[in-house]
Amino acid sequence: MKYQAPRGVKDLLPPESGSFRQLEDEVRRLFALSGFQEVRLPIFESAALFTRSIGESTDIVEKEMYLFEGKGGETLALRPEGTASLLRAAIEHRLAEPGRTSRLFYQGPMFRHERPQAGRLRQFHQAGAEILGPNDPDTDADLIATVSRYAQATGIPGSRLLINSMGCENCRPEYRKRLLSYLEGQKNLLCETCVRRIATNPLRVLDCKVEGCQAVLDAAPAITDSLCPASRDHFERVRQALSEGDIPYTLSHRLVRGLDYYTETAFEWVSDALGAQSTWAAGGRYNGLVSSLGGPDVPGVGLAIGIERLFLLREKAGTLPVSKEPPVMIALHPLDNDSRPYVRTLLAGLREEGISCVGLFGSNRLKKAFVSAEREGARYIGLAGESERSDGTLTIKDLKTGVQQTLPGHPAHDLARILRAGLQLSIDPSA
Ligand SMILES: [Zn+2]
Ligand SMILES: [Zn+2]
Repeated sequence: MKYQAPRGVKDLLPPESGSFRQLEDEVRRLFALSGFQEVRLPIFESAALFTRSIGESTDIVEKEMYLFEGKGGETLALRPEGTASLLRAAIEHRLAEPGRTSRLFYQGPMFRHERPQAGRLRQFHQAGAEILGPNDPDTDADLIATVSRYAQATGIPGSRLLINSMGCENCRPEYRKRLLSYLEGQKNLLCETCVRRIATNPLRVLDCKVEGCQAVLDAAPAITDSLCPASRDHFERVRQALSEGDIPYTLSHRLVRGLDYYTETAFEWVSDALGAQSTWAAGGRYNGLVSSLGGPDVPGVGLAIGIERLFLLREKAGTLPVSKEPPVMIALHPLDNDSRPYVRTLLAGLREEGISCVGLFGSNRLKKAFVSAEREGARYIGLAGESERSDGTLTIKDLKTGVQQTLPGHPAHDLARILRAGLQLSIDPSA
């Protein structure tokens, strides 16, 4: 019986796994530089948490969650996104309290049962940052600017920032009514999904990607024309702050995000460098969410970056970071069985000194050892036989230059120093 990974998931293999790790580290650093601290969240939660926060009539809750029953009969879900989990944790551990600011980030796999297609996986990775407490437009703008500048600095091809306002509980119902009456009038021009959503979640109709719906939806009333004075002021100040910071953006009145919890500022970074326009990062303000999950009345704003999309875009641009894990520097080979303990001692000593090394214990044959050393990607091969172990030395051959010399095997500190220096010398041809 041969096993295969389930449909829609992917094994990350070297060297891509090294680049992926680097990208994640890059994003962690970006968040850390803005004062965010990490929360490690569980992979599964009570399903009700997501139904409550994301909203009943969204794709995620309607059809994409992986649900299973706990031993106690409760319905659990693999997390389809991170914000709900993070807020649940912040409320549970009193990190979301009136009058204080919490900057928290998370990173890890998310799960959605989507139709498998290019760039869409059923297990994908997100890194997200959330600011709980402040409700000012400058906080929104600062968060947005951080990601836009990152996109610029790392050369994400074709990245564009789209922004919109989702209004607030005072003005959104009014807009919803206006939109509803417009959509009702255009019903016969819209696709099936749109028609169904008019009844359940009219704002989400604006999200439709079906070709035939585009003209109708482009002409739909814009929410920015229905904002109450407070929401209008908030949005104008976000835009002003972005302009002052030289952060280019495009207003998109069809940007409504796929989740119900957003209020006020909504934003999305898209790129068409991968063919169809795809979103690689997105977020928004969610002022009612903490309280709707049973927490205090604390506003919040946050965003998430899709690591797979980021990977593809950076790969496309040729700016994918390479793994920083040290490659194998030296492979040690015992020339006879009696030299095996000596080789094991040398390996332990070198690793303590931070030298990446492997033992070639598969065979005592020299020819095989050279093939294995090359396969390990080792720069040097170290040979130990009777004379080396009695003298406490090691015969080392540089697999690149062919130069061979016998060096003292310990203390490991000295050997490590020589290996490092040797590596530097061979990189710099002038030395
Ligand atoms: Zn409002
Ligand atoms: Zn449609």
